[in-house]
Amino acid sequence: MNKYEFFPIGYVESCFKQKFAIPRQPGLAPSARAVIRLSKEIFGREAVEGLEMSSHIWVQFVFHETLEEGWAQRVRPPRLGGNKKIGVFATRSTHRPNSIGLSVVRLESMDFTDGVCLHVSGVDLLDGTPVLDIKPYIPYVDSVTEADNSLADSAPKKLAIQFSSEACKQIETLQLTVDTDLRSLIEEILSLDPRPAYQHLDEERTYGVRLLDFELKWRYVLFEGETRVEVLALNP
Ligand code: SAM
Repeated sequence: MNKYEFFPIGYVESCFKQKFAIPRQPGLAPSARAVIRLSKEIFGREAVEGLEMSSHIWVQFVFHETLEEGWAQRVRPPRLGGNKKIGVFATRSTHRPNSIGLSVVRLESMDFTDGVCLHVSGVDLLDGTPVLDIKPYIPYVDSVTEADNSLADSAPKKLAIQFSSEACKQIETLQLTVDTDLRSLIEEILSLDPRPAYQHLDEERTYGVRLLDFELKWRYVLFEGETRVEVLALNP
């Protein structure tokens, strides 16, 4: 079998510091921002000249955090409730033969003060993700209007979100230190309900994840028959 060697052209500095609670697809959390920092030793600004003409870019990357976990011919996608299996190539599973991910993200800006940095948003990328390639998104080619996918036929259902008074105060303070709308980011991420599909409502259970440079804490509550998220705290 032929083997090919690739090298990371750069790395992602993402708001997502843990895999848990990262949206399962790009674009679902428009406020989720990251910087793709190209390797300074190899790339100058000439390598991205003209990329500013694209509003969005394709990013090919390595699922580096799950590399050691191997892969299987059939997987259990969350979309099927986490218990029905289908072929790995029918899913966007992170556990793939070559561990390569592909996301389309919005190119917010580029800056060249310290090497080549691409500021992007709407990411589903973990902090530290190695990037293999970047390509301009070409709408007349890439957005196939007649395409459909009966497995993933619509965006996930969203849960309502409420914030404790403590969380509101903490957002106000922390908002001064981040370059994205913190309340929107939290709403976008938690409304997608990051719990594993098999977990059910347990009002006693609290959840936590490292986001930017704080620990986000939340729980699920039943309100008028609907499960909703209560954001409890953002602990530095
Ligand atoms: N849009 C990409 C694709 O289609 O190849 C990724 C889809 S995959 C279902 C998205 C998930 O990958 C995220 O929810 C996150 O848990 C996981 N992920 C993101 N970056 C990762 C990394 N560097 N290593 C392992 N898993 C990662």
